[in-house]
Amino acid sequence: MPHPQASRVLIVLFDGLRPDLVTPDRMPALSAFLADARRFTEASSVFPSLTRVCATTIATGQPPAVSGIIQNAFPDAAAQEGRFLNTASAEDMRRAARHHGPGFVATPRFADALAAAGRRFALVHSGSAGGAYLLDPRARANGSAVMSLAGREASETPELWDAVTARIGAPPVAADKVPLMDYAGKAMAEVVLPELRPDVALLWLTEPDWSFHYSGMDTPATRAALRASDDAFARVLAAAAALPQAERMAVIAMSDHGHVGTTEPFDLVGELDALGFQGTLDRPGEDLSIAAGTLCWLWPSVADAVRLGRLVAALREKAWCGALLAAGGNGIEGPWPGTFDLALLNVEHPRSAPLLLGMRGGPEPDRWGLAGNSPIVGKDFPLGGGMHGGLHRQEMANLIALRMAGVEAGEDAAPVGLIDIAPTLLSLLGVAPTAPMAGRSVLAGEAPRERRVLETGAGDYRQRIVLAGEGRGAIIRDGGRVG
Ligand SMILES: [Zn+2]
Repeated sequence: MPHPQASRVLIVLFDGLRPDLVTPDRMPALSAFLADARRFTEASSVFPSLTRVCATTIATGQPPAVSGIIQNAFPDAAAQEGRFLNTASAEDMRRAARHHGPGFVATPRFADALAAAGRRFALVHSGSAGGAYLLDPRARANGSAVMSLAGREASETPELWDAVTARIGAPPVAADKVPLMDYAGKAMAEVVLPELRPDVALLWLTEPDWSFHYSGMDTPATRAALRASDDAFARVLAAAAALPQAERMAVIAMSDHGHVGTTEPFDLVGELDALGFQGTLDRPGEDLSIAAGTLCWLWPSVADAVRLGRLVAALREKAWCGALLAAGGNGIEGPWPGTFDLALLNVEHPRSAPLLLGMRGGPEPDRWGLAGNSPIVGKDFPLGGGMHGGLHRQEMANLIALRMAGVEAGEDAAPVGLIDIAPTLLSLLGVAPTAPMAGRSVLAGEAPRERRVLETGAGDYRQRIVLAGEGRGAIIRDGGRVG
């Protein structure tokens, strides 16, 4: 069967939105949309389920092992003294591209393919400036229209900033993101869609992610943020429906990752100290530099496989130890007993840490009565705030739904993921990628990827990874300690 063809593609991304929280009382417009859409109930983020890793995978159709954007923040020669390279900062991303050369963001994006085909990409982004940058680092050369609400200087194409602010004023600056969601929806609905009529339009809504983290998974403030994003979605849908050939438009509603409710701050630095390791959270340290969260990345200052192996053996004995992932194994198991290889998760890369350690979460409800929970290391979120980045299913499960005429609505249990977004939208427009992508169109009609459950362990410690498909095109569903 030929692939369905669309006149244009509109993507609205709700950062961090857990699919199970799309309910008619919280999000009426999105709930109504889903009733007419193909909804992928086994959709998954990418590992690690962190926003800029996700953005890069959405843009490239490739996992982090290929793109090199392996973490939100990591040790790097281009970083400022005493800091990790911060992918949220457009300035850090530009500095890294100057330091490392264009190879830092070389992986082809869908925006490059659109430009090569004479088509146009437009982005209104209300999250971090770095997140906008990584979606289309060559935006100027591509002739894209990119506006980061983080500021004119942060926007790769300031002309769009000028055009939008001339029409609807400057974006609101406040801790409360509700007015910002309203503004983002207006910028897309009142300026970008009617005036630019892009072939692919992406509205990146930073809520509910912000409120899940800093307010809690189900507080009144979080519900207000969900409703503000839902209102922006409704506004943009209405504006898109007024465009020429709207009857042949494809609309994708999605999130980049989910969230798991956190139960308690975990003192990993104290635990490591008792094992003879000096950990430093979220910046370079003397011994172990740690990117903290529900799943922590450990970079030793000196490579010493024997010492790290002793640490792994000690961690396996700890009741709080969840997933253990390590670099340099056989493609499935890591170099130390009980560990999985980073290559299995498509995150092996020179920038990756040699050892990743998950906190041991579980399926029991969080303090809001929502499924799943996990301890957290570091971060300044209030108790009960949400987090993501690990392998808990609540972190990995994301929303992917597509509505267009001729595509049957209903639930689809085929395992799909973020690597499939770029191939899907390019196929919908009949545009060839500039290089092969690991993902594939969710509408290609191919046989579903085969589900695989892998288990490993040592002594009393056992963990598993659930994934679908093989190699770079595999979809990681979830993982963690069992038993
Ligand atoms: Zn995110």
